[in-house]
Order: sequence, then C-alpha cells, then structure tokens
Amino acid sequence: MPVSAQLFDRAASVIPGGVNSPVRAFKSVGGTPRFIASAKGCTLIDVDGNEYVDLVCSWGPMILGHAHPEVVEAVRRAAVGGLSFGAPTEAEIELAELIAERVAPVDRVRLVNSGTEATMSAVRLARGYTGRAKIIKFSGCYHGHVDALLADAGSGVATLGLPTSPGVTGAQAGDTIVLPYNDIEAVAAAFAAHPGEIACVITEAAAGNMGAVAPLPGFNEGLRKLTADDGALLIMDEVMTGFRVSRSGWFGRDGVAGDLYTFGKVMSGGLPAAAFGGRAEIMNHLAPLGPVYQAGTLSGNPVAVAAGLASLRAADDAVYSALDRNAERLGGLFTEALGAAGVEHQVQFAGNMVSVFFADRPVTDYAAAKASQTWRFPAFFHALLDGGVYAPPSAFEAWFVSAALDEDAFDRIAAALPAAAHAAAAATPEGSRA
Ligand SMILES: *Cc1c(COP(=O)(O)O)cnc(C)c1O
Repeated sequence: MPVSAQLFDRAASVIPGGVNSPVRAFKSVGGTPRFIASAKGCTLIDVDGNEYVDLVCSWGPMILGHAHPEVVEAVRRAAVGGLSFGAPTEAEIELAELIAERVAPVDRVRLVNSGTEATMSAVRLARGYTGRAKIIKFSGCYHGHVDALLADAGSGVATLGLPTSPGVTGAQAGDTIVLPYNDIEAVAAAFAAHPGEIACVITEAAAGNMGAVAPLPGFNEGLRKLTADDGALLIMDEVMTGFRVSRSGWFGRDGVAGDLYTFGKVMSGGLPAAAFGGRAEIMNHLAPLGPVYQAGTLSGNPVAVAAGLASLRAADDAVYSALDRNAERLGGLFTEALGAAGVEHQVQFAGNMVSVFFADRPVTDYAAAKASQTWRFPAFFHALLDGGVYAPPSAFEAWFVSAALDEDAFDRIAAALPAAAHAAAAATPEGSRA
C-alpha cells in the first residue's frame, strides 16, 4: 500500500475527510490524495518518492516556484528574529507600501490572515461605510467560506456540488443577491429593484474558481458604472489574480478601478497572510480610526510578511512574462493533445490562469461550466497524475503555472498529455470515478 494511502487512512481518523481544505480530498476525481514530502522549483515530491510537475502551485501562490532561495532566506531571517510580537513592525509598512504602489486604486492596506478574512472584512466595511445591507455576488465566484458569500459559490463548493452550506442561516444569507457571472443586465435589474439598498458588488476581478472564466468585454466596466451610479461600492476580489496575472493583478490588465480590493495567495508567498485595501476615505472607517471593527492577533505576522515581501520583490517583469509564456505554452499543449484525441474542449485563459472545459462552446458563466462534460475530467486528471503531472483535482478549478517551469517540465507535460487526452475522449458519464 502506498505511503500516501496509509497516511490518508490515518488522517481520516483524526481530520474530517483526511484533509484541512475539501478540494484536496480528490472526492470529485476519485483515488487517494498524494501526501507531499517536499517541493522545489516546479516539482512536487510525494511521500512515496514520486515526482510531479506542479500545475497547482498551492492554488496560486507559488509563482516563483517552490522553495525559492530568496524567499526561504527571508523567512529564515525573520524567524530567527522572533515569530510574533502582537505589536507593529517596519516590514508590515513595506508590504502595505508595495501593494499600494502596485495597485493604483489602493492607498490604504490592512493585513489579515486569509483570503476569507479579507473578503469578510471588506464586505463588513462596505456595509458600515454605506449604511446598507444588501450585497451582490456572482454564481461560481468563490470569496472564501464567509457565511454571506457561500451561496452558489465556486471552488470546493462547486467541486462537491453543494448549492450552499448548512450552518448558514437565512439571516446571514438573506441580504445576498446571487446573479449570473458576466450578465450585466441582471446587475442593472437588481439595482433597479433595490435602489439605495445595495452596499456592494463583490466579484472576482477575473473568475478562476469555476475554472478560468474571464470577464466579457465591458462586464467589469459595467459593474463600475452601476455601483457608482447607485452609491454602492465595487469590491474587486483579487485573492487569486492579484500579483499573479500581472504585477498589478487583474487591475493591471483591464484598468477598471474597484473601491475595495482583497488580496491573498501570491502576496504572502505561501505563508498565511492576506490583505484588503482601497481608498483612504473608505478604509479610514476601520477601527481604530473609525467604527467598523476588524482585528487579528497574528495579522501582519513577521514571518508571513517576510515571505510576501521577498516574493513580490522577486516578482519582476521577467517573472510575469515567464508566467504568461508558460500559460500560453501549456494551453497550446492542451489544444494539441485534445484536438488529436478528437474530444470537444475549450482551452480558456484568464490572464495566465488556464482551464480545460469539455464543452462545445466557450464557458462564460457557472451554468455553462456545470453543463460541460465534467465526467471526462477524472480520467484526464488521473492519466496526467500517472504521467507525473499534478493538475488541480477538480473540473472547476484553474490551473496555475509558475515561472519555474523549465524545458524538462514541459517535456514531461507534453509526454503525459496524449494518454490523458485519449482517456478523456474514451470516458463515459457512467465511468466517472467520482
Ligand atoms: C482562494 C480565494 C479566496 C479565499 O482565500 P483563503 O485564503 O482560502 O481563505 C477568496 N477569494 C478568491 C477569489 C480566492 O481565489
């Protein structure tokens, strides 16, 4: 029995489902999650000694590849100097300054510990600032496991096919209006039906949690105009896209300015830290300046901040062009292999996030993502895994490249893809391993 399988059994007797975040459990693709022993560059090594080309990158953060020497050295130095003080440090200022310098609409930043905390805090601030209760979110967008934001969410919620979550009360979700992504008419209708009642629209700046689904031309601009016209705030959730799809995130690609931003993943280089930010006039409503309460014992943790600073400092123009180039190359390999196998598919990009949908037309919203032939995905996934390529274990996730992918990695991906494409082509709805 492989060590991963032994560990998964042992984990399941002490950790619910054997994992600390549901999508890791392989539930929708079947089989046993690989327990990772270590990682370096673009390579993961599991506890059985198998090596994989990593196309998950810890769900986004590791744009430089794993165990990048400058990041590891920064973490080591910070750790030696003390793990946590519960008092301010200079490095927190530097990280906030770096974020504000890269994302023009952000002039104040508050550090938190996870993307969930960032979106939860941003929504509370939007409500506190506007004095309004209702919020708009989009089907298939995931903003962490915030009660008010779980309705029709993407990521693990989509992977497990859950409409929402027990434990979220009507009171917590009752002010959430859920609309189809990329449907600006639906947003206009919601504002017409609830004038002056909507505190904010929260959107993924480009959706990555139902697979990579970029905003259609004019969608983000339309959100900007509708919110401004009504006096509501626009929250751009860039937890996934921030500092990945360009040095300024999705804002660097479409230039549509949100009122509030949320960040996570890349900005902390793989350690637990995240942030939200925006215009001073709004952010100054936060305690201790204003009445909207938000806090965190470990927020701005010196080790996490050191990892984030080192990662962002190393993420120069060369890194961003490598990410774009690698995503395009990966997409090209998908197209080639799936085309040769004769299986209907869409290779979609949201910046340098990539997805494969087994569908006959481009996927622009969650309904279309769910209507795709997701039953082909488990076979595709497992053939890649057998071929030494670690893909996201869900049809509803984006694939993440790093700048560390090298010729050898692409050779291994190219070698694994034909068998995977044939497995996807041969799959049947009944044969799904889920
Ligand atoms: C990952 C993600 C979150 C949640 O971040 P956590 O750190 O997992 O809580 C929120 N929003 C988006 C867009 C994400 O991709």
